[in-house]
Amino acid sequence: MADKEDAEPVTGQPRSLRANSLFSEDELIEDYYDAPPANSGSSWSDNGPSPRLPAPAFSGSSPGTLGDGMEGTTATAPLSPTIKVGWLDKNPPQGSYIYQKRWVKLDADYLRYFDSEKDAYSKRFIPVSSISRVTSIGDQKFEVITNNRNFVFRAESDADRNEWIRTLQQIAEERKSKALERTLMSPTTSGAANLADKSGFLELRGFKHKLFVAVAGDKVFLYKNAEDYRLGIGITYIEMNVGNVKEVDRRGFDLTTPYRIFSFSADSDQEKEEWVEAMQQSIAEALSNSEVAERIWAVESNRFCADCGSPKPDWASINLCVVICKRCAGEHRGLGPSITKVRSLKMDRKVWTEELIELFHQIGNAVANQFWAANVPPSEAITPASSSQERRRFLIAKYREGKYRRYHPLFGNQEELDRALCVAVTTSDLAETQALLFCGAAVTCATGDPQCPTPLALAEKSGQRLQMEFLLHNKNSETPRLEVGGSEEKPYSVPLPSVTHNGFLYKTPSMAKPVSERKGQEEFSRRWCTLQDGVLSYYENDRNAMPNGEIKVEEIVCLVNNPPNAHGIESTFEIYIESERLYLFGLESPDSAREWIKSIAKSFVHPRAEELLALDFERIGRLHYKGGLNLERAKEGWFALAGSTLHVCFEDSERQEPLQLRKLQELSIQGDNEVLVLVERRRTLYIQGERKLDFLGWVHAIQKAAGSAGDTLSEQQLTESDVPLLVDRCIDYITQCGLTSEGIYRKSGQNSKTTSLLEMLRRDARSVRLKEGEHQVDDVANTLKRFFRDLGDGLFTGRWGQDWLRATALEDEEAKISEYRRLLGTLPTVNRATLKALINHLFRVQRFSGENQMNTHNLAIVFGPTLFQTDGKDYKAGRVVEDLISHYVKIFNVNDQEMKKQQDEIMAIMKMREAASSGTQQAGDFICTVYLEEKKTEAEQHVKIPATMTAEELTFEILDRRKIVMKEKDYWSCFEVNEREEAERPLHYSEKVLPILHCLGTESYLVVKKQMSMENMLIYLASRVGDCKHGMMKFREERNLLGLGLSTGFHDRYFILNHTCLRLYKEVRSHKPEKEWPVRNLKVYLGMKKKLRPPTCWGFTVFYENEKHEKQQWYLCCDTQADLREWFATFLHVQNGGALWPSETSKVRASRSQQDSRLGNISLIPLRGNESEMRNSVAAFATDPLTLLRNV
Ligand SMILES: [Zn+2]
Repeated sequence: MADKEDAEPVTGQPRSLRANSLFSEDELIEDYYDAPPANSGSSWSDNGPSPRLPAPAFSGSSPGTLGDGMEGTTATAPLSPTIKVGWLDKNPPQGSYIYQKRWVKLDADYLRYFDSEKDAYSKRFIPVSSISRVTSIGDQKFEVITNNRNFVFRAESDADRNEWIRTLQQIAEERKSKALERTLMSPTTSGAANLADKSGFLELRGFKHKLFVAVAGDKVFLYKNAEDYRLGIGITYIEMNVGNVKEVDRRGFDLTTPYRIFSFSADSDQEKEEWVEAMQQSIAEALSNSEVAERIWAVESNRFCADCGSPKPDWASINLCVVICKRCAGEHRGLGPSITKVRSLKMDRKVWTEELIELFHQIGNAVANQFWAANVPPSEAITPASSSQERRRFLIAKYREGKYRRYHPLFGNQEELDRALCVAVTTSDLAETQALLFCGAAVTCATGDPQCPTPLALAEKSGQRLQMEFLLHNKNSETPRLEVGGSEEKPYSVPLPSVTHNGFLYKTPSMAKPVSERKGQEEFSRRWCTLQDGVLSYYENDRNAMPNGEIKVEEIVCLVNNPPNAHGIESTFEIYIESERLYLFGLESPDSAREWIKSIAKSFVHPRAEELLALDFERIGRLHYKGGLNLERAKEGWFALAGSTLHVCFEDSERQEPLQLRKLQELSIQGDNEVLVLVERRRTLYIQGERKLDFLGWVHAIQKAAGSAGDTLSEQQLTESDVPLLVDRCIDYITQCGLTSEGIYRKSGQNSKTTSLLEMLRRDARSVRLKEGEHQVDDVANTLKRFFRDLGDGLFTGRWGQDWLRATALEDEEAKISEYRRLLGTLPTVNRATLKALINHLFRVQRFSGENQMNTHNLAIVFGPTLFQTDGKDYKAGRVVEDLISHYVKIFNVNDQEMKKQQDEIMAIMKMREAASSGTQQAGDFICTVYLEEKKTEAEQHVKIPATMTAEELTFEILDRRKIVMKEKDYWSCFEVNEREEAERPLHYSEKVLPILHCLGTESYLVVKKQMSMENMLIYLASRVGDCKHGMMKFREERNLLGLGLSTGFHDRYFILNHTCLRLYKEVRSHKPEKEWPVRNLKVYLGMKKKLRPPTCWGFTVFYENEKHEKQQWYLCCDTQADLREWFATFLHVQNGGALWPSETSKVRASRSQQDSRLGNISLIPLRGNESEMRNSVAAFATDPLTLLRNV
């Protein structure tokens, strides 16, 4: 049996090729061959019941480890101390005689071996618990025998071998006796608590086959396959106290540790979410601290579950003051918080005040059970082995019904009970208070003392801290009552201190991206959810103790009430949290959903913004903004979006202020989705996208709300003066470009263009800029007419339209005008403003009738039927428009000043147009100055840059001119030097020079010189493992003009650069990148300006430009030159698909000739060649330099 173990094929690779890591491909060969037959593990599927992990695999699972200092240490301390360590030879794989040198480590839980003493992750771990025997087999060898595999090691001497055997035997013995002890104590629980939190197959980069991965407690275990998992013999495990999970893409996520990044890939994005959640939970557990547990267990009776007797209970009910096991905690949870408030000793650290811990010493399981379990018939008692159902029945009887309690003599006499309580709380007799309280004394009873109206106040006055603590945790507790189901409906209402809500909700896995598509009902799972004490928790069902997850309300940044039926469940809402995750919940009943939304909103919205809660908001949350006079500091505001109004509670104002989104002058996004700019008449508001997820949600919602909602006038985007923006844009354009256009408004324009323009303007007029040359006057004129013709309810409104038409019959001019004025007064504000704007415009148009041939009458013929939406047969429509234009000044009450202003505007427009038409364009110059080695006159070379010239060709050109021969390892390159930034960038050899010249500012120039670090960069790239780089750098952002850059100065940030993007994390532990840039859009320059006072001299300057040509600039500093070189090399490597330097000169020649043919007959300036060839080419080039540029 032993011989089969760890066999390696004879054809195994030479030892020297072994990388110093278990993760090399080479290891797979070893791993592959020591695997058991492939089908032996087939019964283990990742969806099946979670197999039991070997009991000792997790520290803290046996009582014996309690006192040995392994727990309660800081997170970075080794969880299990090493007992013996040293080099051993592992037996050769089958067919080989070469022993493998391994660094072998033994601790209380595992025997592990590593490639070297430096490795953090083993090649193999064997749980001590699975070791059945250790025997000597001669020649300094010994054999470790487990139930199904044997491992043979060879020590350097017999003495060393014997020492190993002795130690291993001893540890295995100890382990066995502990296991026995535990078994005797509780026959069936040995593995119950050790279920893996999540297990299944995952791809891990670097491995050919999927690995079986188990997240259990505070570790993540890697196994070759499911069979190994069942046997407990794995590759390695990752201590999650140093772990850190980062999502990478749809299915991929990285588990990073200081030693290595494990790049996992799950089968689906849902699977990925679950893994990420499980690993995060595991980190939380790893970072949890057993200090509280240790202190509470200091009292003997607290070391066993108050309900079932399981050892080392690490949960508690903080109002009942009992310490309970995980399984009982689950059932407690189902009783509801008014009966028992369940908290973890290890994870809910905040709740454990000194008072509460002391209370658990004073009351705890002993005193609590003297009361609660005074009369438990043995037939009803539960044990660690009891089923959930048994537990549940017992706990309902014990705590909800109070069936086993020791009745207080005053039971049934409310007045006496209350009076006794008022006395008890002033003493240290907590047992008495407990008995009174849970026999019916009212925690809020009247004391009759005006100074101390409540028992709590009495306790405070008497200095009884523990009484106070006990009363506080029980202020909403229900008195146990025997009638079954009695507690379901509360006969009296308890005033709730904070927001409490619970019930079933449908929930999808949390997401890191916006919900882009409709989620079907099947994607939701029913979860029991509780909102209490500032935590929204969701559980598998209402009996579970461990929530599947929870959301702390202080982390909620946004709550979104989706429109009905946005998903497969009628009412849904989204919760966004600080760490960039989104939770989608749903309910079939809109009323219950509204209740939830109200409760959640109330729980997280700051009291100063509570005004917002009364709104019928679709979205509410907090955001950072800048505004007003002080743009230096971003402030936090509370925002609620309701209809087309954004309500804001600014940091420094008392009341919320409404912002009419449809009236915004500007709504735009700056930077790479970083700042949302809202310009209103009175102010400009910059909303900052600190977090991406909820910010993008806000941006979309605000953009949508700021758009038009329907086809009536008032539903359009409006100007400050209540004119639809669409109308304003068209009028403005015609005024600028069309006043003198012949037949304006009569000529019809192109139908298709009109249709698309109208559609564009209707969608978002704010973003449409009508430009001369791009849009035709007649198309715009037609668009305006079409808008009025199709307008819902018409400009004159359905209700009053006929009255306008009737007014034309009035013979008396004055009477008619006053009737028009009266009717004008009846129009809604937006209609009135729009009519005035339009008639004012037509009034101007007819002033140019000499040129455009459109006098008042002609305009009226066109606009009458359009505005009244008639077929044109009713002449009265035209008459109304004619009257309105003719009597414009009188009807609309226009004063002289207004008239003059308009006149001046028109004159200015005319003048501008004349000036513009005389403009000329400059031709470009494509001769460039390039320096050799440094910027000085003697080193100047003037080079004509053809469209296809690459940086390499330019380099050769310059070197050729100076007759410099490029030797091997002379890495001559062309650099772009930016003097202002004091930074330079070596151009990639294949980069085209001409586009660079076009963007080159006056402070930049090109220089050809040797790239000194190229050799080292190439060596680095060739020698490194993996294709990404991560680490700390000092980061500084360039402040933009508005002062919106987030910070000044350099700050430590953690970066990960992979083959697609550069991610910035606030710190190593951060889960979500703060920023993320596609690498290809980055321009990286070496060096940075000294004015910034970089903390080290190894810095670079990075420019980023997105598709929309929005630019950013920032600075990075490394600690060493080598680090800088490595980052820079990785950048270049990623940006250029690995090719940093042309491998052969022939390639250059080949590509050059290709370019020649592409350009047809024009030959480029040869980079090498005889003089006459050169001259001919230059001549050809000079005759028609522009021909070359057509290719740009
Ligand atoms: Zn228990």
